[in-house]
Amino acid sequence: MDVRNCKNCGKLFQYVGKPLCPACNKKLEDKFFEVRDYIYENPTANMSQVSEEMEVPIQQIKKWVREERLAFSKDSGITISCEKCGKPILTGRFCNECKKTMQKDLSKMYGTENKVQKSSTKDPNGKMRFLKN
Ligand SMILES: [Zn+2]
Ligand SMILES: [Zn+2]
Repeated sequence: MDVRNCKNCGKLFQYVGKPLCPACNKKLEDKFFEVRDYIYENPTANMSQVSEEMEVPIQQIKKWVREERLAFSKDSGITISCEKCGKPILTGRFCNECKKTMQKDLSKMYGTENKVQKSSTKDPNGKMRFLKN
């Protein structure tokens, strides 16, 4: 059995992959919903405002955003950067372009990319051009 000290309150607890004891974990979850509601009600609040008002470290807020559990609205002016290209994004870890590229790379790896290309050799635009002329 793996027993550790809770990172927050220092109490010993049975370690199951989370750095916090069940009580602190529950508190953090409750906090998450409070923060989510706060952002929902204050779409223009920036990150330090949320952090101060909700007494949650900015690091924690960022973590939730990276996990795609929290998303700031465009009005807040809050962006985090894509972990691949550094472009500002609103939630998650990567921007849409990088996500797409990664998906492409993934399908290339499994050889599905070729199949897609073969089936789309009939260019739909070709037909339209033909009709116009
Ligand atoms: Zn604790
Ligand atoms: Zn990117």
